[in-house]
Amino acid sequence: MTAVLSADTCATDAVLSEICSATAPFAQVSGSELTVPLAGGGSCTYANFDYAASAPALAQVTERVQELLPYYASVHRGAGYASQVCTASYEGAREVVARFVGARTDDVVVFTRNTTDSLNLLAGCVPGETVVLDIEHHANLLPWKRNGARVVESADSVEETVQRIAAELCSRPTALLAVTGASNVTGEVLPIARLAEIAHRCGARILVDAAQLLPHRRVDIAALGVDYLAFSGHKLYAPFGAGALVGRADWLDAAQPYLAGGGATRDVSAAGTVEWASAPQRHEAGTPNVLGVAALAAACETLAGLDSAGAEEHERALCERLTAGLSAVAGVHVLRIWSDAPDAVGIVTFTVDGAEPREVASYLSDRYGIGVRDGRFCAHPLLARLGRPEGAVRASLGLGSHAADVDRLVTAVAEFVSSRADDQATPAPSR
Ligand code: PLP
Repeated sequence: MTAVLSADTCATDAVLSEICSATAPFAQVSGSELTVPLAGGGSCTYANFDYAASAPALAQVTERVQELLPYYASVHRGAGYASQVCTASYEGAREVVARFVGARTDDVVVFTRNTTDSLNLLAGCVPGETVVLDIEHHANLLPWKRNGARVVESADSVEETVQRIAAELCSRPTALLAVTGASNVTGEVLPIARLAEIAHRCGARILVDAAQLLPHRRVDIAALGVDYLAFSGHKLYAPFGAGALVGRADWLDAAQPYLAGGGATRDVSAAGTVEWASAPQRHEAGTPNVLGVAALAAACETLAGLDSAGAEEHERALCERLTAGLSAVAGVHVLRIWSDAPDAVGIVTFTVDGAEPREVASYLSDRYGIGVRDGRFCAHPLLARLGRPEGAVRASLGLGSHAADVDRLVTAVAEFVSSRADDQATPAPSR
């Protein structure tokens, strides 16, 4: 930790700017200059530790949306020039997204609203049983459970967890293993290539929920052997309401369309018979989100052009700094699912002894201008498994994060803990 701030000194930007200039972010994102009010008066620059919920826009994404906006018009059906521009942007985005995730040439890219949408779409297409882990975000749990999925209880080690998955997959015919790429609670990563190999050996396919993995790691689904990938633009620095499902065409072509309506059909007869289009159009009925998809493509292009090893190293260093700083504060506990996870993305979730998560999160915002997430992160079974049914506090990092903000967070948590200790030590006034 490089500096110690008290709640009082935090009230001025001048003091914060001294430590905030210590390091730079890895890439320019929106909101980096944002000033927020503090509860005691004054203001300071916002320290965003909520990337795992929704990441700020990359500068290039904002530019792309601004460029396209004057051309905004109907997509697919218009002959006007603006419609042609929008249609080319929308259809061209499929190739950009496919390349970014290393899709096979015959994979399809279906544009959706977000990861939840992508997973619900695929859940309607799977021709058999699904296996899931109990650590998943509800988006990768509930659509499958609704279809009667078999849920594998995660073990304390990745190794044992992988063996349990293998045993369940091979115990009876299974169509799909649906698994997270990175936990939205701890950032821990599973060995995806190995799981893909096991799933295929047992006659199943594999879907990876990449909502948290893709913003932090380059993913190549062909090389990994992944059959389907689901992700959200708003977590990938493209907060304009688009997501994607990428993967094998056959199940998508055979299934009922996700939504019935215009754009998903080849022909509708006066007698009412419908000839549906094949994927991706089959599952994209209705007017699509042209700007959201353009934003998603811009994010993929920008991220593909970044030094990914450098970005990972930047994040890893910040994560270690944050974990070490928080772990050194008495009564603070950083949560982990496994003892042997091969990797973890920039998410650090913690509890403070005797304090409600909301109390901690409010203190950080009110006194230090820090935005974190508190609660159970739509992963209630996992929080219960970790012995934290009341929830926790999650600090998540991204391309705009830097060391001075990490130090601010550690300082603020330490200050919270010591202010509570002072409160408890002060005798109540006698009446
Ligand atoms: N999967 C994981 C691992 C997530 O972290 C989230 C959201 O936090 C989702 C799925 C759902 O994403 P969305 O809300 O964008 O649909």
